[in-house]
Amino acid sequence: MADKPRKPDQTPRGTGTRLVAAGRRPEWTGPVVNPPVWRASTHLYEDMAAHRDGPRHNEDGRFFYGRRGAPTQWALAEALTEIEPGATGTVLYPSGVAAIAGALLTVLRPGDVLLMTDNAYDPSRAMGRGLLADFGIETRFFDPRDQSAFEALWCERTKAVLLECPGSLTIEMCDVPALARAARKRGIVSVIDNTWASALGFPALARGVDITVSSLTKHVGGHSDLMMGAASAGPKFYGALRKRAQNLGHVVSPDDAALALRGLRTLQIRLERETSSALEVAKYLSQQLEIAQVMCPMLPGSPGHQIWARDFTGGCGLFSFVFKGGTAMARDAFIDALDLFGIGYSWGGFESLAVPVDPVPYRSVMAWPPKALTRKDRFGVRLSIGLEDPGDLIADIEQALARMAEA
Ligand SMILES: *Cc1c(COP(=O)(O)O)cnc(C)c1O
Repeated sequence: MADKPRKPDQTPRGTGTRLVAAGRRPEWTGPVVNPPVWRASTHLYEDMAAHRDGPRHNEDGRFFYGRRGAPTQWALAEALTEIEPGATGTVLYPSGVAAIAGALLTVLRPGDVLLMTDNAYDPSRAMGRGLLADFGIETRFFDPRDQSAFEALWCERTKAVLLECPGSLTIEMCDVPALARAARKRGIVSVIDNTWASALGFPALARGVDITVSSLTKHVGGHSDLMMGAASAGPKFYGALRKRAQNLGHVVSPDDAALALRGLRTLQIRLERETSSALEVAKYLSQQLEIAQVMCPMLPGSPGHQIWARDFTGGCGLFSFVFKGGTAMARDAFIDALDLFGIGYSWGGFESLAVPVDPVPYRSVMAWPPKALTRKDRFGVRLSIGLEDPGDLIADIEQALARMAEA
């Protein structure tokens, strides 16, 4: 009985309880716990009447053709909707970048202007300058910590804003509810890349954002072995998102959907563990003489901590720090000396990672180094803290700092 699945959104339940039950409709799981992998392109119809009736329905849960998914994908989409307060539905995409493109192409038309936070994920910035520009959509960048700068960019053609909080690489926080409220008042659609916090750490729709997008590759997958994205929205935008994704031919494989569902079940405990470990590591780093600044919103005293404490319900293992002075070579020597941190993109997996932070080529209006630092404090590192013992991670960083000093 403990495993009896429930229909979405009946009773208010805690997040852990929701994550266990989400998407497990009996008609999708049969007698087993997890929805099996339904591999299918062709869906067979019982007779001609059923075939004629097919195109009249376009919703998850209706067999039609493989591109519209089957129970494994539907279960994942439904589970994501269940953990996103205010969501009517969720659309799945083959990557996080595809989800961002899918959302922006849903709300923008040729001639429109998109405002994009300057610390957006670099492929989002490249999308503005490339894909969107090619379709006659102009992208303008703004510092999300400065609401008046955001409003100063508004014009008749401004139709959407892409937020990301905290920002990529440099992890600045911004006042998302205030920016979303201002946008809505002006009829500007707000879209957020909520990959860092996930719905568990920042319930974006409930905080006033119109469309929330996330790379499931990171926290939801959680094991560095799949690529996927999702966009969730309320009644106003969900149907349009779905239609656009169908126009673009987006579909995710049932194998990956099953892996993502498996990751989703443990999302909360992984995020809690990563957050507490990241806090320990960040605290250690903030006490080292070689470090000028730690950018970890969960850490009291770190930039943006007050906003994080006010608006967010959780954190994750991803944060950055900047060395006091030094050189790129010394920073690289530090990363090379790390034993327990892989060097690689992506994050949110069970294993720790490190990459250099050199944001200058990826910023149009935000200064680097930030004002609080001197011009020499510019070489940063981004860490993705995984599920290792935090004491071991700190010891590893300690020996790498010593090796850096020798070099
Ligand atoms: C990784 C990432 C994405 C893109 O996700 P993919 O699944 O790799 O395409 C988008 N936004 C942020 C903030 C990311 O870190």
